Amino acid sequence: MNRRNLMKIAAGAAPATMMSQRHLNAQAQADRAARGLSSPLIKDVQVIATAPAGLRLVVVKVITDQDGLYGYGCGTYTQRADLVVEAVRRYLKPFLIGQKADRIDDLWQAMYNSSYWRNGPVLNNGISGVDMALWDIKGRMAGMPVYQLLGGKVREAADCYGHASGNDAKEVVASVQKYIAQGFRHVRVQVGVPGMAGYGSRGADSRVAALHNKPVFEPMAYIRRALNMFEVCRKELPEDLELLHDTHERITPTQAIQFAKDCEKFKLFFLEDPLSPEDIAWYKIIRQQCTTPIAMGELFNSPHEWGPLISERLIDYIRVHVSQAGGLTPCRKMAILGEHFGVKTAWHGPGDVSPFGHACNVALDLASYNFGVQEYSPFSEATREVFDGCPEMKNGYLYANEKPGWGIEVNEKAAAKYPFGKNEQGERGRLNGGWGEVRKRDGQIIKQ
Ligand SMILES: [Mg+2]
Repeated sequence: MNRRNLMKIAAGAAPATMMSQRHLNAQAQADRAARGLSSPLIKDVQVIATAPAGLRLVVVKVITDQDGLYGYGCGTYTQRADLVVEAVRRYLKPFLIGQKADRIDDLWQAMYNSSYWRNGPVLNNGISGVDMALWDIKGRMAGMPVYQLLGGKVREAADCYGHASGNDAKEVVASVQKYIAQGFRHVRVQVGVPGMAGYGSRGADSRVAALHNKPVFEPMAYIRRALNMFEVCRKELPEDLELLHDTHERITPTQAIQFAKDCEKFKLFFLEDPLSPEDIAWYKIIRQQCTTPIAMGELFNSPHEWGPLISERLIDYIRVHVSQAGGLTPCRKMAILGEHFGVKTAWHGPGDVSPFGHACNVALDLASYNFGVQEYSPFSEATREVFDGCPEMKNGYLYANEKPGWGIEVNEKAAAKYPFGKNEQGERGRLNGGWGEVRKRDGQIIKQ
């Protein structure tokens, strides 16, 4: 209702007069609270492409027409990073110039629909970079950290898990003990498989005989090795330590069912990605046969993937890579959906997430009742040089930056010192940041 209509009502009956005066007062109060700011308009959209720790990070900077008001967001898809850069520069930037920066959900829907074909990782990451930057801008306007915009804290900090690994079970135990000494209560354990390319841990230098010259992986050898590692970990490590494990979707659906059942006695905190996104219909069978808690979702792009798993209560933890799903806006909705169905969050958080992505994870962790656990990997010196204000780790807990927005500033001069490809070795260097291939002994490619 505009002011003229309000005044017309004000000229009418007494109750309407009272109502309209209240309305006018409320509007005046809201104007004062918003400091009389008009909607900031998007003036420029820039991309910062940097790899301070070797992994390619994509950060989007949205600049408004109001002096000093801008925001940053994470659009990191490290295996195809160059494409996200171009998606933002060539398509999202011209689409966004002149739009109101304070209409976050509206702009999210507009960007999402503007490509007609949608829900792919490149476009979702581009949208995420803008989406998180708009939340940063709103936080800076409000003078509040983003978690406050989501309703405020329901906990003080995010309980995290670190990545322990080793060539054998003994080395894994030693690696876990380092995390315990740092205060962690949750640790992910991964063991190498002799002669093979096990996920999350280096194998021995020698390689098993195979009909090709690529890294080798055989599912059953890995499964036997992992079960033995759990046995040793449960014997050697404190009873109250929470153990997690990532299968990385490398085994067949039937092997996954058997593996989840065999894991039951080790009481894992969760078993991650026992199935690939292509095989999610098999989760029903895992659920019917055992109570091993299941985590899934870092490869998901679309509500069609996480929606049924959450609403049918087929997983325990949703583990989406926030930028892959399109940013804070869709992931906030996903967290709330999970709360209704008893599914907790465990947002993807290794080194292929920029500090803005980590800050977004922490904001969700602090403000979501159904938070489960947060994946954590330390920020390198070079990363801190580029990104000032990374979330802080203390005793296995990750703390949000209390400054407005994400509370992180980018040193663009430092970012330029670490261009994509610098210090990239082997296949990553040859493939422009992409991953190579892993094959079974007979040459069949595996999912990784
Ligand atoms: Mg994983």
